Amino acid sequence: MIDLQLTDKTHDEERQGEALVIDAPLVRNGRKLYIESYGCQMNFADSEIVASILLDQGFETTGDYKEADVVFINTCSIRENAEQRVRNRLSQFGAEKRRNPKLIVGVLGCMAERLKSKFLEEEKLVDVVVGPDAYRELPQLLSEVESGHKAINVLLSREETYADISPVRLNGNGITAFISIMRGCDNMCSFCVVPFTRGRERSRDPYSILAEAQDLFDRGYKEVTLLGQNVDSYKWKGADANEDAEIEVNFAQLLEKVALISPDLRIRFSTSHPKDITDEVLHTIAKYDNICNYIHLPVQSGSTRVLELMNRTYTREWYINRVDAIRRIIPGCAISSDIIAGFCTETEEEHQETLSIMDYVGYDFAFTFSYSERPGTLAARKYADDIPEEVKKRRLAEILLKQQQTSLFRLQQFVGKTVRILVEGTSKKSDKDFCGRNDQNAMVVFPATEGVKAGQYVNVHVDRCTSATLLGTVVN
Ligand code: SF4
Repeated sequence: MIDLQLTDKTHDEERQGEALVIDAPLVRNGRKLYIESYGCQMNFADSEIVASILLDQGFETTGDYKEADVVFINTCSIRENAEQRVRNRLSQFGAEKRRNPKLIVGVLGCMAERLKSKFLEEEKLVDVVVGPDAYRELPQLLSEVESGHKAINVLLSREETYADISPVRLNGNGITAFISIMRGCDNMCSFCVVPFTRGRERSRDPYSILAEAQDLFDRGYKEVTLLGQNVDSYKWKGADANEDAEIEVNFAQLLEKVALISPDLRIRFSTSHPKDITDEVLHTIAKYDNICNYIHLPVQSGSTRVLELMNRTYTREWYINRVDAIRRIIPGCAISSDIIAGFCTETEEEHQETLSIMDYVGYDFAFTFSYSERPGTLAARKYADDIPEEVKKRRLAEILLKQQQTSLFRLQQFVGKTVRILVEGTSKKSDKDFCGRNDQNAMVVFPATEGVKAGQYVNVHVDRCTSATLLGTVVN
């Protein structure tokens, strides 16, 4: 993966394994859970649901798997190397299990769903395999393992949204948090495993989403990111708050309701689908200052023929029309993308069309990949992965170079200006610096300043930039 920016992560990105911990729960059973997450932000949000379920059982979390009673690895299947990383990690946990045979090792998430019981055959040291819709069953599944059996539940659901489970915030900064608003995906992009591993699309009820956002704000959080594989198709139907009429809530209406919680609560969302993003959503973003002017709108390819093979259900012209609408309704809005180089049968001219759409849009940043075939997907069944690796590599390098130049150009537009940022904490590179993001999701780094602390909004005068970061000083 080529990550041009420190941004929130979407379904088309992968994060390396991160151990997730929280302070001790109220009632303990003396048992410790170690949970490590890979992949998209939805997976990280799911780990917070898993932790919540087990903390309710009296577990506490630990950041050291060697002191854990239960080790869970929440997996990603989006690319082969993501799966390989998980297998390598499992062999490390295996060594620990040989030392401590009572240790329970579980595989959760997309890889569990994709491989199902094969996982138990392939990885003998794994005790429990649980798909993304079966986390409520974890306490029972752990009991089965304790009574000497292997346990598995990979049933996908048409209803499960975990709406009533309040996620515990793991590794949080206490300032920004993710809220899942829906699960699954009904699109069948031909390169993607998600519809097979996360099931059909379901929208979570808006009351529980609003309650979660309000609770976060009351606890001092200042930014929430509403998460879904395709947030623009959020649609919930049910009784109104007084239970006397049936109402329908779409994504624009949900955005507005969350924005009204407080002007001091920033709202972000991910991911948008070009076929579904409506002008109503764009007007809602434009109407509220606290809905960030940033849209992740993955194009994947600039060629209509390749988009058709990818089953993206929009054309180059449709995508350009949506970008024009964003530029018209929300001037200055940042746009980011996911781009795949070397999809099946992609010609040199079609690759050039991807480069030219990048020129047209001028993405603020992009996550770029060379195509890797995933077993079970429509593309794997229907098309030959026929672009030689060195051609994919060269096309990817051209895409990346263009994006680096565009990212630098986009960030240079802020130099000499003052931007409002939400301070997230100390910078990764130096504890003498603070960092935070502006409305357009650009990372801003500035020297730690007396009186400024995480969670505050401050104005920063931008003096200079790299292709990924704005650098400046606080001004009043
Ligand atoms: S929209 Fe397409 S790429 Fe995104 S999760 Fe759904 S099938 Fe996968």
